[in-house]
Amino acid sequence: MADNLFQRFVQSATEPDKAFLLPPGCAPISFIQAFAAAARFAHVLVRHGVQPGDRVAVQVEKSPEALFLYLACLRAGAVYLPLNTGYTPSELAYFVGDAEPRLFVCGEKSRAAIAVALPATEFLTLSDDGTSGSLAAEAAACSSDFADADVSMDDLASILYTSGTTGRSKGAMLTHGNLFSNAQTLKGAWHFSGKDVLVHALPLFHIHGLFVASNVSLVSGAGMILLPKFDLDAIFAALPGASVMMGVPTFYTRMLQDPRLNQDRARHMRLFVSGSAPLLADTHRQWQDRTGHAILERYGMTETNMNTSNPYDGARIPGSVGLPLPGVEVRIADKGGQTLAQGDIGMIEVRGPNVFKGYWRMPEKTAAEFRPDGFFITGDLGTVDANGYLHIVGRDKDLIISGGLNIYPKEIESLLDELPGVEESAVVGLPHNDFGEGVTAFIVKKQGAAITEKQVLNALDEKLARFKHPKRVMFVEQLPRNTMGKVQKSLMRETFKALYS
Ligand code: AMP
Repeated sequence: MADNLFQRFVQSATEPDKAFLLPPGCAPISFIQAFAAAARFAHVLVRHGVQPGDRVAVQVEKSPEALFLYLACLRAGAVYLPLNTGYTPSELAYFVGDAEPRLFVCGEKSRAAIAVALPATEFLTLSDDGTSGSLAAEAAACSSDFADADVSMDDLASILYTSGTTGRSKGAMLTHGNLFSNAQTLKGAWHFSGKDVLVHALPLFHIHGLFVASNVSLVSGAGMILLPKFDLDAIFAALPGASVMMGVPTFYTRMLQDPRLNQDRARHMRLFVSGSAPLLADTHRQWQDRTGHAILERYGMTETNMNTSNPYDGARIPGSVGLPLPGVEVRIADKGGQTLAQGDIGMIEVRGPNVFKGYWRMPEKTAAEFRPDGFFITGDLGTVDANGYLHIVGRDKDLIISGGLNIYPKEIESLLDELPGVEESAVVGLPHNDFGEGVTAFIVKKQGAAITEKQVLNALDEKLARFKHPKRVMFVEQLPRNTMGKVQKSLMRETFKALYS
């Protein structure tokens, strides 16, 4: 049997009868039970014609069974293709047309609508709680022994479509080896062990909840309190029985608004991890004041898994995404791929066993995003400080060029966020006849604050070169965010494209 991700999960479960999943209100599910359930699902996949290398598209709500389906795909050698539960049938048509899955597993409720949009696709269903639907029904009659497919670390384990905040969504091809190496690295970096219990409130269709959270737990033999979604009551109920939480910044800002967050509730915890979107330095500080814990911020993306992390032991710097993980090379380069001097702002490029194999059926796009020496061009702009910590200053697309001068939104956002009365901000460039792009600030005020555009601009006067000053400051109720908490700047650019015309 070849070495692969699932084999490593089995080997890591040194206490197979120990609880792996702890769904609130239900009986715990041990590692051995989870692997057996995955075997039954794998039989169903094979019965429906799935062969090694075939894609299995999955759009289901979060449940233990959704996770078993991921494990079943690994066991059958299939390529797991999870899809955001928010996608509409017409959006799904793109992914299905592109990936050509052998099988599509969807929710019972969405089955009819999806089937109309995708008449040529074979379906199985799984109910929202995972206990019924045709997949569950067929699996009930199957054996819990399964002869795993002979796939190796070089074979594809998953295709994850990028969240598509810039242009058409691309299928990132991740191998068993990509996923295993990153899970193993994070286990070491974050001191994971079989004693850990993770609060899991992230979605299972995104790299954060699926690979960072679940794979790290699986290679560590750690348990997971699997919550169907982020819910403050459920999170606070889970904390006393947990040791680690992984979240997007929104989890932390929402928890901070809840009076239940205090040192006592966080006493059992040894680690809070944040990623997928920038954590405000202010949130980091507030969290530390309230709980005594410094949130550990890390940086990664669908294509690369995790690249950098603040240290477990050592300074966790607010506003920084930390140091390169062991085995991962990070460099800051100019447009031609030449490494820049320390302290300069440029493109973040990464290389390592964590980096994906390319975009599914897009060889030109793949070639365009890799340097000849194997570094992947992330599209994120950053700078490395004198202590080697990486700071992200925006996306390549975010870069504003106004009057021919480069302006990094993050620099302005950081200043705005520090102003009294400002809850958070986002800065974008909007089409401008004179300047090409006009720097535009969007601000969410703190509750009850009475701050004006003039006050904001005055406050920036001494801190920011004139050419970087926002041409307009707009006050909004909230910033548009996707499910992973990322501010959707492309949407803001589209909505306000005529502001200066
Ligand atoms: P995704 O592929 O959906 O995980 O999105 C990856 C992108 O999220 C990265 O390229 C970054 O732009 C952003 N990102 C992830 N983690 C962080 C972080 N800690 N701080 C700032 N941006 C982040």
